Amino acid sequence: MLKIKSFDKCVFELGKLPGIGRKTALRLAMYIMKMNERDVKELADSIVDLKQNIKFCKECGGLSDGELCSICADSYRDKRVVCVVEEPKDIFIIESSGRYKGVYHVLGGKIAPLDGIGPDELNLQRLIDLACENKVDEVIIATNPDIEGETTATYVYKLLKDFDVKMTRIASGVPTGGLLEFSDDITILKAIENRREMY
Ligand SMILES: [Zn+2]
Repeated sequence: MLKIKSFDKCVFELGKLPGIGRKTALRLAMYIMKMNERDVKELADSIVDLKQNIKFCKECGGLSDGELCSICADSYRDKRVVCVVEEPKDIFIIESSGRYKGVYHVLGGKIAPLDGIGPDELNLQRLIDLACENKVDEVIIATNPDIEGETTATYVYKLLKDFDVKMTRIASGVPTGGLLEFSDDITILKAIENRREMY
């Protein structure tokens, strides 16, 4: 292997990213080398800026550059409909369908005993508070349709079922075992529109 310090370092760093194997890291580093300097600087700056300035919304736990994300701060969004997702990235996926007008709640993961993640590791308190304070009419559970996602959905359902809250689950238009992130906009839209009441 060639020993070119700056090049090897860039390949090494790119290779730490998920889904980037060594071959892809090499290809990306070659591509970056051919980019003009201004674009490379924009890319590098945007990565640092992302890390330094993006926070988590204090309401929903989604990504934000202020205390509240643009969705929670939007007075046209229906605050009484809350869509529960595993991770902040799921919000982008559902938003891309362009039709959902409620707000979100990010759990910060899903119940996965094999990975040592139980209910205590998830952000569940806000959901209980919203239900207790009668601030929500419907909770749509949009965890992924895999085993851990279903376990988490059932857990959230049991947690809230005694409150006066309609509990719904996104339809399995999202392929069983598939992940939200691999679904196209229309599938996501149908999954939300065809949501069913739980149990
Ligand atoms: Zn928010």
